[in-house]
Amino acid sequence: MNLFSLLDQTAARHGDRGAVHLGEQQVHTWAQLRERALRIATTLHGLGPGARIAVASENRPEIIEVMFATWAAEAVLVPVNAKLHPREIEQILVDAGAALVFASPSIAAQLAPVTGVPIEILDGPQYRSRCTAAPAAAPRNTDPTCLAWLFYTSGTTGRSKGAMLSHRNLMAMTVAHLADFDSPDDHSSLVHGAPMSHGSGLYVAPYVARGARQVVPASGAFDPTEFLDLCATHPGCSAFLAPTMVARLVQTGRDRPAHLRTIVYGGGPMYVEDLKKAMAAFGPVFVQLYGQGEAPMTITGLRRADHLGEHGWAPDAVLGSVGYARSGVDVAVLDAGGRPAAVGEVGEIVCRGDVVMAGYWNNPAATEATLRDGWLRTGDMGSFDAAGNLTLRDRSKDVVISGGSNIYPREVEEVLLEHPDVVEAGVVGAPDPEWGEIVVAFIVGQAPPAELDALLLDRIARFKRPKRYLYLDELPKNSYGKVLKRELRARLD
Ligand code: AMP
Repeated sequence: MNLFSLLDQTAARHGDRGAVHLGEQQVHTWAQLRERALRIATTLHGLGPGARIAVASENRPEIIEVMFATWAAEAVLVPVNAKLHPREIEQILVDAGAALVFASPSIAAQLAPVTGVPIEILDGPQYRSRCTAAPAAAPRNTDPTCLAWLFYTSGTTGRSKGAMLSHRNLMAMTVAHLADFDSPDDHSSLVHGAPMSHGSGLYVAPYVARGARQVVPASGAFDPTEFLDLCATHPGCSAFLAPTMVARLVQTGRDRPAHLRTIVYGGGPMYVEDLKKAMAAFGPVFVQLYGQGEAPMTITGLRRADHLGEHGWAPDAVLGSVGYARSGVDVAVLDAGGRPAAVGEVGEIVCRGDVVMAGYWNNPAATEATLRDGWLRTGDMGSFDAAGNLTLRDRSKDVVISGGSNIYPREVEEVLLEHPDVVEAGVVGAPDPEWGEIVVAFIVGQAPPAELDALLLDRIARFKRPKRYLYLDELPKNSYGKVLKRELRARLD
């Protein structure tokens, strides 16, 4: 089993059709993409099977070539987020033991030399000479447990770790995506709005499997206007976007572009108010995923139809949930004693299935702590309702325990965001001699504390109300757009 077979089959069926586009320009047909990947594969074979090939770049068409070349050579792709600090990129290259890094010109210019890791500029002279090598034979007998992708986690709760994803893991993700979420064909497109080093790049596989064209924005980044323009040009557009990107689409004030079909959002909380605004602007094109690098893009989800109710949108309890178990994945919530929690009871979310990683690269202690009794311990807290919808609370480390009661920041944040003068809200616990911890809310916006208190009293239990409100210009976020609760906590001192 090798993910290269997805490109092989599509090139056989749709060889002459456009495969990769940069903005509106076609870069390769499927036959050309296949051939280029096999030529590059020839030049990677010398590094040996299992060699780690890193790619540190803003979104560029070459990433797709390197991806399939790496799989054809039975090597392991190590995508690195382009927005990381050069020192963080270097740490990943060292941790992965990378044999080579393909970097965009701007990243190559910032990277300090890392011993034993040649830096090669994407589409530079050396890269172009790889593309003239004789094509390798397509791989035929790859062991499904062979690693395909080292996925470096976003490290919101600590240092980034490399989740080892095999060909089987990513094939399971591909099948689940096609079964649950989207049914692209050769008249469809995947627009790479989000970084291809993570979610958007993972989705290359299901869309290549169906011959949907790959559209890389010419800016190489997420620009809401450019994104909406591309969805007005290319046929049948789907994209994966982080919730913060969806909010930026709404802020453009534009309507649904003619060919926008599906936006898969996830990777961080989508607040109900924001989701409703997005659905009002663009219609029922939204699909939610809950996943993590360790079970890529695939733990639970809400399909397009699940966002709709009998007379409009689905109830808030559904829109505020992360949906139900994805095809081929078992999902459970365990109580503190490791037993299945009752309906409504909050515990740690665990999952198992072919999509779950083999472990963390060179980190047996973290692997042992995370893969236990056949389950992936996600570190997320949540509860099921009677219909099997999972509501995510918070990462276990972010739960506030005040006077012995658990308070889930997300619940308080959802209410705060209902105030028209709250732009962003981040809730954390602050140490307190009397209560153990107290709730503190960081607010971006002008809403006065008294109005926020009144709103909260109207919606949730009194003990969950923040005892302090602090105002900021914006919430600290990492380069994936995830709010850094640890930085908020650091601001309490
Ligand atoms: P990463 O491995 O960097 O993709 O981060 C995964 C984490 O993001 C999960 O463990 C969750 O805490 C969070 N996350 C992913 N999807 C969602 C979602 N749909 N809603 C809320 N949080 C999410």
